[in-house]
Amino acid sequence: MNIDSITNGFVIDHIPAGSGMRLYELLGLDSLDCSIALIKNVGSRKMGKKDIIKIDADIAINFDIIGYVSPEVTVNIIRDGVLVEKKSIALPKTLTGVIRCKNPRCITSCEQELEHEFKLTDPERHVYRCIYCETKASYEG
Ligand code: ZN
Repeated sequence: MNIDSITNGFVIDHIPAGSGMRLYELLGLDSLDCSIALIKNVGSRKMGKKDIIKIDADIAINFDIIGYVSPEVTVNIIRDGVLVEKKSIALPKTLTGVIRCKNPRCITSCEQELEHEFKLTDPERHVYRCIYCETKASYEG
């Protein structure tokens, strides 16, 4: 894969250095068979170092997941080899089915069919809490 020539796909840029792998996992990219490049510790004037993910396929991307990992991220959308949109991502207000509640006594632990849902309770510190038991979401999942 020539990582500079994406025909139809995405370049997820300005990922804070070290968060690329986590974003890769949360987006479920490991289960796709298209060309994907995760480039770590790229020099950036704005950020010092950053991670970049390039996806050479027109997949459905959950932008809430990207915003959760970092609202600094920009997503470049490429169609027919041309950059058609530079999308900035906002911190999502709610996260549904993205991260799981770790509280063993939470209702989502016993009721498996219940969707795990978190609400942004502190936008300054990016704190999310389970809507059922208010357990704080940990970044690690
Ligand atoms: Zn919970």
